[in-house]
Amino acid sequence: MASRREFFKLAGVIATGTALASVAGCSAGQSNSAKAAAGEGEGFLVGYQPVSFAKEARVVIVGAGPAGVLCGYETAKAGLSTIIIDRDNVVGGVARYSAGVQNWFGSEIGARERGLLSWEGGMKEQMEAFNQKKNFPELAEKISEYTGKAQDLLADAFDYEWDPMIENYETTWLPKGGLCENSPLFDTIKENLDGIGVEFFFENRVTSLITDETGEVVGVRCVDELTGEITDVKGEYIVLATGGFISDQEMVAKYLPNWTNLGCVITSGNGDGFKLAKTVGIAWDEEAMSIYKNLNAHSEAIFVAQQYGPSLSILQNGRRFMNETSVHAAATGCLACNAGNWWSIWDDTLMNSQNRECILTGGGEIHTCQTVEELAETMNVPLSELQATFDEYKQICATGEDPKFERKLWLQELKPPYYCMNNRPVRYKTMGALKTDINCQCLDEKGNVVPHVFAAGIMGLFDYSCDQVPAYASGMYVGERIAELASA
Ligand SMILES: Cc1cc2nc3c(=O)[nH]c(=O)nc-3n(C[C@H](O)[C@H](O)[C@H](O)COP(=O)(O)OP(=O)(O)OC[C@H]3O[C@@H](n4cnc5c(N)ncnc54)[C@H](O)[C@@H]3O)c2cc1C
Repeated sequence: MASRREFFKLAGVIATGTALASVAGCSAGQSNSAKAAAGEGEGFLVGYQPVSFAKEARVVIVGAGPAGVLCGYETAKAGLSTIIIDRDNVVGGVARYSAGVQNWFGSEIGARERGLLSWEGGMKEQMEAFNQKKNFPELAEKISEYTGKAQDLLADAFDYEWDPMIENYETTWLPKGGLCENSPLFDTIKENLDGIGVEFFFENRVTSLITDETGEVVGVRCVDELTGEITDVKGEYIVLATGGFISDQEMVAKYLPNWTNLGCVITSGNGDGFKLAKTVGIAWDEEAMSIYKNLNAHSEAIFVAQQYGPSLSILQNGRRFMNETSVHAAATGCLACNAGNWWSIWDDTLMNSQNRECILTGGGEIHTCQTVEELAETMNVPLSELQATFDEYKQICATGEDPKFERKLWLQELKPPYYCMNNRPVRYKTMGALKTDINCQCLDEKGNVVPHVFAAGIMGLFDYSCDQVPAYASGMYVGERIAELASA
């Protein structure tokens, strides 16, 4: 396709280690690339490369996470040519590597298989009460409604099957193969999207939005992170679905300063979509970005599985500090106790459950012990305190009452062999988002729509939630809105 060099401009290049290195590598000097990186350049040159569109689709989606793929499914199904670009070489975003605990509600499949109330039943009232507490209740309500629709889409269009219901968790749906077994779902989604003509452009990082002479966004620039090769992609509807900013140290220091010194379990949450958006004047919701969500353990191995079987969590002093089935309380609870790690202890009930494969990803970090004495020695905790914890837990199991932490589930004594693993708190997801209207079209500081640009997934969800299910729902919702706008 011919390039109209004079009319296109890069709105700014986001600072990416590899991308800037490649820019500097083919530039005669630092000044132009530095200027372009800061978004100050008047022209369209980055490393002296003019804009030249090599690919084109009506819909260009940046990010192949849960949001990006369902958005692409909807737009392609509506007959709009669609390209999904991702730095990774597979679909699924961070959800692919997550525990995969999914909290769906309001779906037909939920009503059918678990007798759950549909969105139009009592569920609607519950969710409306939840949504009213949000800063943007109208969008929260839409996303609630779409969680049911998205689950039905996965079940009907992609034949996706979940694990049978686990006792006490009727709105929770787990991967059929157990926790962390997310690849089958994403591989099925990919196959289906291939089948309806979605083009995937992998291992490419979007580093700039491209604008035309009026300043409107008309495409994106991608850089192959291995070769440095640049590809410009033209699009009518640009969807930013790049996830959160938890891996970006500067953004975390600014918005979530209490977490600055914690490690981060993912590397892809660089806030790229936020930085790209800023180059064309899209506003960030600073208030939502500062909302603290929960923390994780450095490994999903046993951390999430503790919701689904008997276990104990203790600090280095040998004492319990939380309700073990309220897993996210572990990381924050441990920090609140001024501790830097905690131990999980479990037995064969969990080890031989459907989550065995997930647990075994703990590998050499998992220790097997035959006695409480051996456990104390392995974990280097005081035996007397650990024994007191086991004695107390025996009492809790006998009475069904856990006065300190009010745990109600899986109150079963642990039997040897015992297994233990040390966990460290890490950050893993953020809450906040770009400012959008009800159609998820991005807005500038004055509340005006920035034409052609949409936010999907957790970067477009304001303060609704930063989980997998709302990301699917948001992607589906945005895809439908684009299809509607395109047909208007
Ligand atoms: C360890 C962990 C465990 C989790 N466990 C659960 C759980 O059990 N249940 C649950 O509901 N949620 C869980 N989550 C959260 C859930 O995975 C996310 O909320 C969800 O994946 C968000 O979807 P998304 O599509 O908005 O973004 P993401 O999944 O983050 O996808 C964004 C995609 O954009 C790509 N990208 C980013 N920048 C660029 C760029 N410049 N150019 C090209 N591509 C780019 C990334 O490579 C990525 O593929 C977990 C998250 C983590 C990290």
